[in-house]
Amino acid sequence: VPALELVGATKSYGSHPAVCEVDLAVTAGEVVTVIGPSGCGKSTLLRLAAGLERPDGGEVRVGGKVVAGPTWVPPERRHVGMVFQDHALFPHLDVARNIAFGLDDLPRAQRAGRVAEVLELVGLSHLGHRHPHELSGGEQQRVALARALAPRPTVVLLDEPFSSLDANLRTQVRTQTLEALHETGSAALVVTHDQTEALSMGDRIAVLKDGVVRQIGTPSEVYESP
Ligand code: ADP
Ligand code: ADP
Repeated sequence: VPALELVGATKSYGSHPAVCEVDLAVTAGEVVTVIGPSGCGKSTLLRLAAGLERPDGGEVRVGGKVVAGPTWVPPERRHVGMVFQDHALFPHLDVARNIAFGLDDLPRAQRAGRVAEVLELVGLSHLGHRHPHELSGGEQQRVALARALAPRPTVVLLDEPFSSLDANLRTQVRTQTLEALHETGSAALVVTHDQTEALSMGDRIAVLKDGVVRQIGTPSEVYESP
């Protein structure tokens, strides 16, 4: 059973289809990148998976369970983690509390352990008591990843996760992110407009144009075909 599956997923704004009958599956342990020009529907696709948008047609499934289509499961009940371009960390909470925020369902006695575990995963065990403004951009991005992974989601969705970082840092944080994803065995869907990023991160790459998946395959399959 795929971790995430979109089946004929369609979303229109007015008469304009932003995402048009998209079929896409991501299996556990797999990283799929979605690439395409601005306005091709990348964010909409991710938002459909996250439950931030409702599809007009088709289905979204997480771990084999229908979460959008004939039934509706809201974002917080989908076992989906999200990482945004701008981190979206809570400025008034320290790093540990930022991460603990999504762990309401975990018995209280287990929360500190889980927070410590994901801090170690992203190499930030020493920074649990800092506030976001006391961290570098790269560290903030790693906290955002730790927060997304802490509830052990079935799939993690990353929307242009490194675009706010400068070029050197981007490569470094990308590598750290991949290591963390591989260590947890999470399925991940990563939206990017950067070909290098799509190539270096994706086990498979989906090329989106005008809301339609034009191509999907391994990096060599996608970039060696016309
Ligand atoms: P991308 O992430 O690839 O830049 P988007 O998914 O943001 O593309 O947008 C796809 C299309 O849907 C674009 O034509 C965009 O203008 C349109 N769109 C996205 N969000 C909205 C919205 N909330 N209202 C109206 N149109 C939207
Ligand atoms: P509360 O604010 O609810 O009294 P805490 O101040 O202990 O709880 O911190 C909030 C959450 O972050 C808790 O789930 C706690 O277990 C966790 N936490 C706080 N500091 C750390 C830390 N340094 N390492 C790991 N987990 C921490």
